[in-house]
Amino acid sequence: MAKTIKTNVLGFPRIGENRELKKAEEAFWCGKTSRDELFAVARNIRLSNWEVQAAAGISLIPSNDFSFYDQVLDQALAVGAIPERYNALRGDLLELYFAMAHGVQRDGNDVIAMEMTKWFDTNYHYIVPEFVKNQTFTLLFNKAADEFLEAKSAGIATKPVIIGPMSFLLLGTEKEEGFSRIDLIDRLLPVYVEQLKSLEAAGAEWVQIDEPCLVLDLDAKTKELYAKAYSQLRQQTKLKIVLTTYFGGLRDNAELALSLPVDAVHIDVVREPEEFDRILSIFPKGKILSLGVVDGRNIWKNDFELSLKIIGKAVEKLGTERVWVAASSSFLHVPYDLKLEKNEEKLSTDIKRWFSFAYQKTDELVMLAALAEGSADAQQKAAYEQNKADIADRRTSPLIHNAKVAQRVANVSESDYNRTSCYPVRSAKQQSRLGLPLFPTTTIGSFPQTTEVRSWRAKARKGELSAKEYEQLLKEETARAIRWQEETGLDVLVHGEFERNDMVEYFGEKLNGFVFTQNGWVQSYGSRCVKPPIIFGDVERTEPMTVAWSVYAQSLTPKPMKGMLTGPVTILEWSFVRNDQPRSATTKQIALAIRDEVSDLERAGIKVIQIDEPAIREGLPLRKADWPAYLDWAVAAFRLAAGVAADETQIHTHMCYSEFNDIIEHIARMDADVITIECSRSQMELLDVFGRFSYPNSIGPGVYDIHSARVPSVDEIVALLRKAQKHIPSERLWVNPDCGLKTRGWTETRLAIANMIAAARQLRRETK
Ligand code: GLN
Ligand code: ZN
Repeated sequence: MAKTIKTNVLGFPRIGENRELKKAEEAFWCGKTSRDELFAVARNIRLSNWEVQAAAGISLIPSNDFSFYDQVLDQALAVGAIPERYNALRGDLLELYFAMAHGVQRDGNDVIAMEMTKWFDTNYHYIVPEFVKNQTFTLLFNKAADEFLEAKSAGIATKPVIIGPMSFLLLGTEKEEGFSRIDLIDRLLPVYVEQLKSLEAAGAEWVQIDEPCLVLDLDAKTKELYAKAYSQLRQQTKLKIVLTTYFGGLRDNAELALSLPVDAVHIDVVREPEEFDRILSIFPKGKILSLGVVDGRNIWKNDFELSLKIIGKAVEKLGTERVWVAASSSFLHVPYDLKLEKNEEKLSTDIKRWFSFAYQKTDELVMLAALAEGSADAQQKAAYEQNKADIADRRTSPLIHNAKVAQRVANVSESDYNRTSCYPVRSAKQQSRLGLPLFPTTTIGSFPQTTEVRSWRAKARKGELSAKEYEQLLKEETARAIRWQEETGLDVLVHGEFERNDMVEYFGEKLNGFVFTQNGWVQSYGSRCVKPPIIFGDVERTEPMTVAWSVYAQSLTPKPMKGMLTGPVTILEWSFVRNDQPRSATTKQIALAIRDEVSDLERAGIKVIQIDEPAIREGLPLRKADWPAYLDWAVAAFRLAAGVAADETQIHTHMCYSEFNDIIEHIARMDADVITIECSRSQMELLDVFGRFSYPNSIGPGVYDIHSARVPSVDEIVALLRKAQKHIPSERLWVNPDCGLKTRGWTETRLAIANMIAAARQLRRETK
């Protein structure tokens, strides 16, 4: 253990090593287990997290980083920010909490959930606090103190974590007009003071106050309120505060953040290392600097040599007492333990030596601190040597660096990014080949992944079905889906994606440069976890990935069959990515792999190809200044993937979120022949944008919400389409659902699609 340099963990995974919390919650929600059973599982997870960190020798161990659903929701409940629609449920805090999280339809209660959105640029989703003009706050639930005391009674001193008051307000939303939510700060602060006082009374020394909004673009008023709020907090508590920022550099907020009257400031050095020197040069006297050098967002082993240089510089200026070695962000975003990966075939030791999950990262912090202050024991010194060897191995490993891929990337030329002709020319050629009616109908790709389909996959995985048998079942399901699509009268068909469990994993498994873990789960929201693929090396396609399925499907019908691919940005966004080259470089490699697939599909006679990019919007950087660079390479990657297609091949793309107002010009630059977008929940509000910006190619604004089993009526769809017609010329308007149908059942799917087709036909009659 280090003697003077302290180590600081910002937060820990909380779903349980084997997703115990997920299982316990889901059992509790459907009434299979009691509240006490759920609480016991939660307590065990917390205790185990604390014990692991204590055993490793972490100085500042977080508490209140646990959550049954989401840490922002926890704080909303704590400060009594309960939307009115839940009033009837206030009698029972746990019921109230889960109702806010996912709605409730039971015992005469029927209330919808609070909104959920992405937590900064992670794939974690938080619950958006709701505020009204006359919002009041009271300390309803003192979770921070409860958990601190729980740890204390287990003999572990912790540092409670609370989302800061300014970020809490900024991350929320206004439910009525006529006020600005940050003005609620004066009413909110007294409750924060109460929370802090109770922590003080419970015996806490430090509190971690998270203000991640300090890495965003802030206006002058917000900055002023930051200063005001923290000077008020300071006056009312003696607790030592570590103001914590992560997911980006402080940039123009640095002076503000460093001037706030707190005892320590945490910065994310992984995300914006180039900022470190400046921060250090202006770092105020007396404060402690918590250096986030161990990546909380990615699974790579820390490069000790590099980190020690950074820590060394800080120690030189501030001394060992004023430097903490920390994780860049909470470990919520990485899996628990690399040791749980026991399957050599999936993840070989050769590759595993480059990785580090939450437990390993915890150890890294302690080793770094010891090495930095020169107190490392023999074992730690040996670990350092091993670390150097692992890092060097990764730098040169032939498993990662593929000369063929490098050559291919170097040979990309300007013209590769462009289709042969411009859209009007292409569209005429495509129309004469496809002969589609006005308002062509299609779907987004997937059809219901029924329990049956999923059971085949499970059996095939366990070896209970042979590869041949499994394929046969999928083929039959595909054939059924195609027969139905023909009968119901869709114009452009899809094969249904029954062979895919996930739109990224399916491709990752077929590409070089990806590995998959067995147990590498991370929380996505609530009890939902994902197991992101890991892109560790140069990405290369060695053989066609989808062609056989598309060719088989096309052989069953004379109607055009859409080939279905996941786009390069989406594959990148939903994976753990390399940190040894820019994201743009990895995306370019993926784009080339997809490009080859486009080419092969085309050669195999597929006339329409969709390249899904649902993640392109969510990949936007946190700071507006970084948008142009990102959009340039993201759009270029799509164009590189699609650019190989002949004029006659119709390229579609699909996006899920419809907030395109600020990036529509860039979406247009992707130059897809047809774009389908989620639209119906906003009642086509999105289309306003098309009033302002005349989108040049074809658009299929989703005409019904696939997130619910509700079947839309023909009239409803017609009404939405009429709205769309006001902004999009009829010749360029497609008719389709909002998104893929894999989470739906067949009954509602058949009814909804039939109504969608009836609506398109009605419009055709009217428009003639
Ligand atoms: N083609 C995919 C599907 O239909 C698209 C999914 C998505 O947009 N997230 O399932
Ligand atoms: Zn979608």
